[in-house]
Amino acid sequence: MTFGRRNTEEIKLEETKVWVCTSPVCKCWIRDNFKSSAEPLCPICNSEMTVATKELQAISNHNNKAY
Ligand SMILES: [Zn+2]
Repeated sequence: MTFGRRNTEEIKLEETKVWVCTSPVCKCWIRDNFKSSAEPLCPICNSEMTVATKELQAISNHNNKAY
């Protein structure tokens, strides 16, 4: 490392598995760990959803709710 300052606030992007709505008019997507069932339906328009990956900001789980 050649940087002289600490970089603790750096935004880290992570390839995240998501489900994307297959409807061409709907832009809805959800994170895989937020899906409600193994093959979720779109919560907005009830279309089927397909697996994709997005570069998303890594989020840490502050609350350890188990569900
Ligand atoms: Zn949708």
